[in-house]
Amino acid sequence: MSADCIFCKIVAGQIPSRKVYEDDDMLAFHDINPVAPVHFMIIPKKHVDSLSHVTGEHVEVLGKMLAKAGALATEQGSPEGFRTIVNTGRIGRQDVYHLHVHIIGGPHPLPRMISKE
Ligand code: AMP
Ligand code: ZN
Repeated sequence: MSADCIFCKIVAGQIPSRKVYEDDDMLAFHDINPVAPVHFMIIPKKHVDSLSHVTGEHVEVLGKMLAKAGALATEQGSPEGFRTIVNTGRIGRQDVYHLHVHIIGGPHPLPRMISKE
């Protein structure tokens, strides 16, 4: 656990969250500020800052997280697809430095990716 990490505090139950899924390795919970009808995050329980800091020791949990994404998205109301986003570092506009995979979707197609300007 990283002392002042809000997502570590969510994992520890010190900050409440609306839980989607939990097992020994990962936690999924709804984003507090959803940008689409379905918007939740999957995080590893063990703290790692960002995708930039991932090493071989994280391969298994990252694989498990991605392997769970489709089933959870379907359960949450996005059975026909969804978008996964991992904002990373200053350039990726990451706000919370505990690696998280956003799962974003719903009943209707999302806006296209990122505008070019
Ligand atoms: P980013 O690091 O840019 O991927 O953004 C962090 C995301 O975490 C944002 O979408 C926030 O709405 C979300 N977030 C921040 N605090 C909480 C919280 N306590 N519970 C759920 N989601 C949160
Ligand atoms: Zn953390």
